[in-house]
Amino acid sequence: MENKKVNILGFDFLNSSFNDFMDKIKERINQRQNTFVVTANPEIVVAALNDNQYAETIKKADYLVPDGVGIVMGANILGSDMSERITGYDVLLDLLAWGNQNHKSAYFLGAKPEVIADLKTIIPQKYPDLSVAGYHDGYFNDSDEIAAEIAQNKPDMVFVALGFPKQEYFIEKYRQQNDGLWIGLGGSFDVLSGHVQRAPQFWINHRIEWLYRLIKEPTRFKRMLALPKFIRLVKKQNKQK
Ligand code: UDP
Repeated sequence: MENKKVNILGFDFLNSSFNDFMDKIKERINQRQNTFVVTANPEIVVAALNDNQYAETIKKADYLVPDGVGIVMGANILGSDMSERITGYDVLLDLLAWGNQNHKSAYFLGAKPEVIADLKTIIPQKYPDLSVAGYHDGYFNDSDEIAAEIAQNKPDMVFVALGFPKQEYFIEKYRQQNDGLWIGLGGSFDVLSGHVQRAPQFWINHRIEWLYRLIKEPTRFKRMLALPKFIRLVKKQNKQK
């Protein structure tokens, strides 16, 4: 797969189908290549535009993929033929199924203790042949200790669901301690454990998953203002081309 990219507001997004991306990632996991994936939505891009350290961290990722529909819209405004989202949650589900089939190992870091407690029953039930290298909730004081546990267990995949920007900072700081996949997954464990419902397919197909989330969690309103701001900035970038 060639790595087609589209530069959006200074960030190089991968323009690929979900399936091609998954093939590439699995090949890298099989080869135990150190890989850092950022699954970004407009909120993340806007946050990075306001925070140099975060921007630099994101730019170190091997793959920056369009988690949010806003990123696909932005790419299209700039003339790119990007057509698919690559969401952290879909990547997670795909890797869990594949990891189960291929006896891979995974470490789960993030979310509230009660979510992790539920994952400890759900994962072995659904994915009995996946080897679990460890679990830890996302509310800890000593990150070095967790990183040491990861390094010791050498998982093929490290799933980091601490929300942004925490998850990307964690990955960037510790990824050299374990050659494998490191991916930031936001609230994915909440959905996987059933604590949070993902939008029904209708909302996803009509590109309004964000609206479903807003209705479910109205406190996200302020964060979501990032979307119109992002689109405004992309239109400006397009005019300057
Ligand atoms: N979280 C965590 N540690 C923290 C803060 C947040 O593990 O110190 C978890 C939180 O429990 C939730 C996820 O990170 O599961 C953030 O979810 P959200 O959907 O807000 O993330 P986003 O997609 O916006 O990054």
